Amino acid sequence: MIIGHLPSGYILARVLGVGTPALMFACVLGAIFPDFDLLFFYLVDDRAFHHHRYWVHAPGFWLIVTCVVAPALWFVSRKLLALFAAFVAGNFLHVLLDSIAGGIMWAWPFSNDLISLVTVQPTHSHFVLSFMAHWTFWLEIALWMIAIGLYVRGRRHG
Ligand SMILES: [Zn+2]
Repeated sequence: MIIGHLPSGYILARVLGVGTPALMFACVLGAIFPDFDLLFFYLVDDRAFHHHRYWVHAPGFWLIVTCVVAPALWFVSRKLLALFAAFVAGNFLHVLLDSIAGGIMWAWPFSNDLISLVTVQPTHSHFVLSFMAHWTFWLEIALWMIAIGLYVRGRRHG
């Protein structure tokens, strides 16, 4: 997924009915956070391997983090726990959407295989163009349309 993560986080926050701007921000941040690994992908590792192999794209990693952090936050602060939950929900949505055509290590740590529903063939000179020409890109456009619709509707109803 290329352009659909940001609106997906907004849609998730609206569907979950988050009540504060901070929770909305945490949800949207979680929905885009895994792709910050592109900084390492391009600037540090020089595109040595698929960026979906970084730990931020591995659901198993976030499951472990959640099992450690969530109980601690339960005792520290319920507000921080809610922010963390919104962040992790956005993050889970990110890897779920990346699974459509991008490939995610769903079985990590037991397997490093990238699992996806469909494979986008390299039909164009750049992978972004191939993704934009694939039917799954319409899902990303639909996410933007839904998010904009929810935003406009929310503004009208105060
Ligand atoms: Zn991603």
